[in-house]
Amino acid sequence: MHFLSTYQRIISRLLLVSSLIVTGAMADEVIMPPAVANTASNNVPTVGPSRPKNIIIMIGDGMGPAYTTAYRYYKDNPDTEEIEQTVFDRLLVGMASTYPASVSGYVTDSAASATALSTGVKSYNGAIAVDTEKRPLTTLMEKAKALGLSTGVAVTSQVNHATPAAFLAHNESRSNYIDIAEAYLTSDADVILGGGQQYFTPTLLEQFSAKGYQHISEFSELASVTTPKVLGLFADVQLPWAINDKQAHKLSHMTQKALDLLSQNEQGFVLLVEGSLIDWAGHSNDIATAMGEMDEFASAIEVVEQFVRQSKDTLMVVTADHNTGGLSVGAHDKYEWHPEVLHKVKASPDVIATRAIAEDNWQPLTATLLGFTPNEAQYSQLQSARMQGNEPLSIALRKLIDIQSNTGWTSGGHTAMDVQVFAEGPGARLFSGHQDNIDIAIKMFSLLPQSVQTP
Ligand SMILES: [Zn+2]
Repeated sequence: MHFLSTYQRIISRLLLVSSLIVTGAMADEVIMPPAVANTASNNVPTVGPSRPKNIIIMIGDGMGPAYTTAYRYYKDNPDTEEIEQTVFDRLLVGMASTYPASVSGYVTDSAASATALSTGVKSYNGAIAVDTEKRPLTTLMEKAKALGLSTGVAVTSQVNHATPAAFLAHNESRSNYIDIAEAYLTSDADVILGGGQQYFTPTLLEQFSAKGYQHISEFSELASVTTPKVLGLFADVQLPWAINDKQAHKLSHMTQKALDLLSQNEQGFVLLVEGSLIDWAGHSNDIATAMGEMDEFASAIEVVEQFVRQSKDTLMVVTADHNTGGLSVGAHDKYEWHPEVLHKVKASPDVIATRAIAEDNWQPLTATLLGFTPNEAQYSQLQSARMQGNEPLSIALRKLIDIQSNTGWTSGGHTAMDVQVFAEGPGARLFSGHQDNIDIAIKMFSLLPQSVQTP
């Protein structure tokens, strides 16, 4: 493939995509008569337009296949014989490779992967919607805006973190948080929801207001927002871990609000939803917190799934940008995994550590918060970690939860394994089988109005 220019490769991929669209449309009309459609479960729209009016891309940051597998067993009802399907099992259509531009090897970071997913071009690790020469690349959101569609992002990290940044800005480095926040002013995005107050100075917030944005910083204010544009920043940096914020389902609420606001545009919209903190828990090798974030993301996917089934003109595509931590569901040569342990953990290990350090009689408190009583040897390991401070104790607690649940990890960073692709709605079958992450973007570009000329 090296003798082909990038341009030639994009053209050949587009031709492939346009032929797939024709096939997909025919399959919808010919193979799926209404009688068949009616027998499909939950009124899945099997007859509808071949092109969507709205596109929703949902990214589980770091959510490699081990996470969705672990989540299935985490959600399993032990009182029934069968293992219940999750939303991921329901919507699975394919796989995607995630390698970045060759200058960065095979293991991608979130910036390069988000750039691939937002522009259809591979770049170096750290790149925010720029190519390997640091030239800006057209994003899905820019193209959508140019076509008169509305755009939005709803995430659980700071809104200017790598993934949303690659959809709304261009920068040579993901670390330039202030520049990226300022660039959001020109993105013209209609909905921006997540964390990140510390990156938005009062001056910058005034500029957003001058552009017609309603700025809110309390989560309770979200319900009262009835029209775009809105900039909602609900935390200094990241939103609270879901495990410490049980029943809150903030991502689901932000997603529902984004859908309500963006669907006011008759022309359609493109929305990015990210379960950002799955990756952060993965970097910390923190299985209890990771499952809390998976549940948060899965709930948001169910909100979108409902919207897709009702609207019939909306495509949802869910994927991960890469795999984090080399999570292993079962470890240490034992054929066991114990998700029931994770359900009993009452707070994230960093919160348990803070409380255990503040409490003289820390052992019973720790056992209560962990949901199990450590043995004597484990207590003495925790004791010495506790004397070293919050982070060492937090690490020791995570290791203890790993042992108790028999969870394994191979890295504190990312791994290069392929990720899954889930889709539903008009155009969903384009995403089946194996593809590369840039193909996901190229297919979404092709599904935007007027982007592919049909003769
Ligand atoms: Zn990461």
